[in-house]
Amino acid sequence: MLDFTTNRIDIENELIDEIKLFFPYLEDCKYKIVHECVEVATESKIEWTNTVSVDDKAFEFNSSVDLPSTVLEIKRLSKRAAKASIFGAIKEVSGIEVPWGSLTGIRPSKLVYDMLGEGVTLNECRKEMQKRFSVSEKKANLICDIVQNQEGFYQKNERLFNLYVHIPFCTTKCNYCSFITEPLHRCKRLIPDYVKTLRREIEDAVSQINARGKLFSVYVGGGTPTALEANEIISLFEGFPFSEVEFTVEAGRPDTITKEKMDALKSLGVNRVCVNPQTLNDQTLNRIGRAHTSADFFEKYALVKQYGFRINVDLIAGLNGETLNDFKYTLDKINDIRPDNITVHTLSRKNGSALKNEGRYENDEVSAMVSYAYDELTRAGYLPYYLYRQKQMLGNQENVGYCLPGTQCANNITTMEDCLSVIACGAGAITKIVLPSENRIERFADVRDVRLYLQTFEEKLKDKQKFCEKQFTNIF
Ligand code: SF4
Repeated sequence: MLDFTTNRIDIENELIDEIKLFFPYLEDCKYKIVHECVEVATESKIEWTNTVSVDDKAFEFNSSVDLPSTVLEIKRLSKRAAKASIFGAIKEVSGIEVPWGSLTGIRPSKLVYDMLGEGVTLNECRKEMQKRFSVSEKKANLICDIVQNQEGFYQKNERLFNLYVHIPFCTTKCNYCSFITEPLHRCKRLIPDYVKTLRREIEDAVSQINARGKLFSVYVGGGTPTALEANEIISLFEGFPFSEVEFTVEAGRPDTITKEKMDALKSLGVNRVCVNPQTLNDQTLNRIGRAHTSADFFEKYALVKQYGFRINVDLIAGLNGETLNDFKYTLDKINDIRPDNITVHTLSRKNGSALKNEGRYENDEVSAMVSYAYDELTRAGYLPYYLYRQKQMLGNQENVGYCLPGTQCANNITTMEDCLSVIACGAGAITKIVLPSENRIERFADVRDVRLYLQTFEEKLKDKQKFCEKQFTNIF
């Protein structure tokens, strides 16, 4: 039971997230932690004194903001100071190193872009990330390299839109998955209706986009889009001019890939395909609930390669029972076949996943795995080009997209960095309207349950249209 008190009840959960950086399982934190924040406002500034005691050791942290400043900015800085104080005190007492320092709930690249906006140079950002947020030197360099590698792809434009299409079906469920996906065998009968309805939603999204600006990229994800049959994929996308933009389809599970489906993707103008083994160790694949082998992966990868698609391969560090040597084996084999893009995820203990429900899970070698991936892939000429973090990632690590130079996925960058609005279609898909002038993002979520999505589609489509209309009025 965590023994923690604070007078900042309004941000208590975010402060607890700082404690979780050191103790992912809060019951492991045996300290008594008391936090108090005192705010003093003068005419020219607001000062905060954050006092944190960890057992019998007390620490004081002082910070301030010059006035005038916006309410939002004051709130942001006061929260940041409180979080940093908890982080600093526990770090001092426990001696535990945390790779991303006190950062929680924010994309590290956003902070770098914010600093660049303030006139700080990229090289200074490397130092500032360490100084302001206690980020390790290695991670500070990584995120600054990523920002550098986004040059030419990172762009904010209110008139360019990404389109996301969600296919919530999978052949089996992976043990780390928390998405609402329907096992294929249980929902075969729903698929024809889903395809028809989703097509209607895509048509509506495309006309919304055309009325306001231009399509920038299309991303079809899930679930496993290639769980659909070739004729279903064709009826979903036939007739749209998506071949003119970056058009990605996740063919995530090798066991769903067939020649007919690849012919279909080619004829539709798809130009980027993800084939995701996650690991090349057959025992692990079996253990985590994927219905394919490493041989299936190589066979299907060779097939996909014949079509000239740009290929992404997803891997996961920290899978159940995997050692550093297991991970090295996978990474080296993938490195040998040189896909255009390799995305290295760190296993996250997601709420609702079988992994999480089974109880505690840790992997002591995960940091070494992530480090190995970075060292080997950069040595082999890959560039890290986007990064995101999730809650409850093993070892407080991150997910990194690597690419051969010039093969950056523009959708990943502009979506992940909240540069462009995303109009999303399908059960559980989340439309995101980026309002740069107001530094704000508004979201609209489609119904998650497939049956309910089908039943309530007409009504919900009207809600979505009204939502978009309202947001667009703010922009244009
Ligand atoms: S393939 Fe992806 S969406 Fe499907 S169960 Fe596995 S993790 Fe979940």
